[in-house]
Amino acid sequence: MKALVEFVGAGPGAEDLITVRGLSALEQADLVVYAGSLVNPAHLKACKADCTCLDSASMNLGEQIEAMSDAALAGKRVVRLHTGDPAMYGAINEQIRGLAQKGVAASIIPGVSSVFAAAAALGCELTSPDVSQSVVLTRTPGRTPMPQGEDAAAFARTGAMLVFFLSTGKVGELMRHLMEQGGLAEDTPAAIVYRASWPDERILRGTVDDIARQAEEAGLGRQALVIVGRALGANGTASRLYDADFSHGYRNRLVSEDFDGRCALYAFTDKGLTRARDIAAGLGLPTVLHSTRPSNAEGIVHIPAQDFD
Ligand code: SAH
Repeated sequence: MKALVEFVGAGPGAEDLITVRGLSALEQADLVVYAGSLVNPAHLKACKADCTCLDSASMNLGEQIEAMSDAALAGKRVVRLHTGDPAMYGAINEQIRGLAQKGVAASIIPGVSSVFAAAAALGCELTSPDVSQSVVLTRTPGRTPMPQGEDAAAFARTGAMLVFFLSTGKVGELMRHLMEQGGLAEDTPAAIVYRASWPDERILRGTVDDIARQAEEAGLGRQALVIVGRALGANGTASRLYDADFSHGYRNRLVSEDFDGRCALYAFTDKGLTRARDIAAGLGLPTVLHSTRPSNAEGIVHIPAQDFD
């Protein structure tokens, strides 16, 4: 068997947000080297009783490579467990290079990055039609400087959604920079998601102008992401601009296709019902509104929720 180390993305924290493939690798491992400061130790419960688990926090790079390559060359199954997805700030390149020098191959099992757990916690799509169709995953410079040209203000000027890893220590400075050099308006939505998917997850919603003050008052730790951009919607609610554009675009498309049939719209929530009313008004076509909400004004047909399977 070829000597191999499997790099596994543990996901953002919640024990059940690791992939099936990642979990299976852990179950079969003889050695697991894990990033103890960020990875949920509960993942290690999946390991065999005789599996050796080493916290990489107390090991330097050379020690990690030695432990992993010794075990892999002895025919053991080795897992290197990283938080989120290993491709984002996982510092895996130097490990893969070091292992290769010892004749050990590497493979990667992806994981759910904290950016997606944070978006889920916020209940939002980062690529909202007509608002933003690009997401920049970046960080502020720390011990690792930023390569030339990758300045946050330059990204801000593109209008893309911005997600900052490893940056919660500098939110005030960063927000000022985004407004002053990046041209972001003071009311640009911003959010901080602390420990997304963990039991003590916390969410702060605001604007680039007030999120730093909120963060300071909340005294959150560093395991957090800062997300900035219009797709968050004002105060984190769905963007009105998007709502209006949606019904408008929908009407135009139907009209241009000469659709003259009858429409049924189904709403499952109060918000959905509001949107359905907007769409119905914009369609200018005979429309029946079906709703799980017991509101029978305006001839809405009420259907109990359990009837929608
Ligand atoms: N590979 C990881 C990122 C590692 S860098 C991933 O894909 O998520 C570590 C940084 O990730 C932290 O400083 C923080 O900014 C972010 N982070 C990791 N887990 C997080 C979580 N559960 N919630 C919010 N941010 C998190």
